[in-house]
Amino acid sequence: MAWNKKSECMPVEKLQKFQLEKLKETVDWSAKKIPFYKRKLKEAGLTAADLKSLADLGKLPFTVKNDLRDNYPFELCAVPLKDVVRVHASSGTTGKPITGPYSADDLAQWSECMARNLWAAGIRQGDIVQNSYGYGLFTGGLGFHQGASLLGCTVIPTSSGMTERQITLMKDFGTTALFCTPSYALTIAERAEEMRVDLKSLPLRVGVFGAEPWTVGMRQEIEERMGIKAMEAYGLTELGGPGVAFDCEVQDGLHINEDHYLAEVVDPATLEPVPEGEKGELVFTSLQRRAMPMIRYRTKDITRLRRETCACGRTLVKMDKIYGRSDDMLIISGVNVFPSQIEALLLEIGEVEPQYRLIVRKKGYLDQLVVQVEGKKEVYEASREKKYEVEAKISGHIKGMMGIGVEVELVEPKFIARSEGKALRVVDERPKQLR
Ligand code: ADP
Ligand code: ZN
Repeated sequence: MAWNKKSECMPVEKLQKFQLEKLKETVDWSAKKIPFYKRKLKEAGLTAADLKSLADLGKLPFTVKNDLRDNYPFELCAVPLKDVVRVHASSGTTGKPITGPYSADDLAQWSECMARNLWAAGIRQGDIVQNSYGYGLFTGGLGFHQGASLLGCTVIPTSSGMTERQITLMKDFGTTALFCTPSYALTIAERAEEMRVDLKSLPLRVGVFGAEPWTVGMRQEIEERMGIKAMEAYGLTELGGPGVAFDCEVQDGLHINEDHYLAEVVDPATLEPVPEGEKGELVFTSLQRRAMPMIRYRTKDITRLRRETCACGRTLVKMDKIYGRSDDMLIISGVNVFPSQIEALLLEIGEVEPQYRLIVRKKGYLDQLVVQVEGKKEVYEASREKKYEVEAKISGHIKGMMGIGVEVELVEPKFIARSEGKALRVVDERPKQLR
């Protein structure tokens, strides 16, 4: 049931035929049941019958986060509330939360998508999984919980936080798989080192991490410090939560559950689709959801799509690891900068911890980027000269690789607040009116 070979390895032509059929059903359903979509489709002069091929997707109107906010809480819900069996809400990283209602079928499909994700990570019945995503309105906790339950795993619902207890339980219960955000995984690894618990000697062998951007360098850091394989999950509340896209054993891009989510990448400025393989904003249309279908939802996440044969056998299209959210993109000296680019460079520097923050300030008319990063204990405590030397090394590296001048502040170990969920990477200190 979890390894759905029929869906995950379907010949592309057949898959696309299936997608077109489901797309038409979704458009029809949305127009009938949701006044918002009824209006939008009428304005666009479109009905499901006008969709002759997947290329016609581009004729459909977009949906943005504000549409969900404006229709808070249930105006976009296509089924009566009595048929809604669960309501989640986004974590509100970028403002007022939005809601996600599920019908019983939606919930079952979500669980299957998550189970596929975990199966691809090598998780099976017999695994003892510690789920350190936050339980509650956030989709991470229950999303992973349901997927692991479907696989028949032994689920330990620790939720996030109380890091020492996480480590104690990991030891006592013989946890084999850990689910949390990558930044929390790092927090756990660090705390374990302080507690002198050698995670590498424990049965823990795999982690499934997601809900925030992280670089390949960060993945390697976590793999080395925990002695595990670090796999990935991607998703968002608007589409039901995690399980939208996932790592396979090849760990080179995330497969999208395309029988449920139709993906496009558009140029965020022109909103025109970009040629395949080019970077842009990821846009999703749900194909089988009933309580809250989404038509061309703009995720603000930047990536590119790759249709290629994968050694794992899946035909599902792959997306690159998310480079960042367009909301988090900074423009420094005219150059577009994602926090993940800085993260990648910092992880190449031996003298620092993988703990950093980016602070944006105004210096005259110009935006200035301050990179705060923790020095390793011995480096930070060595001498003032050593500190300056490392700061200059980092700013030189960033200048050389990205062509931007940044100020680097080597801060003491533990200076930066440790994350238990989604890490806060960017602090914008510019006056609101000047952003
Ligand atoms: P919020 O927008 O409030 O954070 P969600 O909890 O729904 O709400 O988070 C979804 C967002 O989290 C995605 O749009 C994306 O920006 C980020 N995200 C989720 N998984 C990943 C991942 N594997 N890599 C990068 N970013 C991710
Ligand atoms: Zn694969």
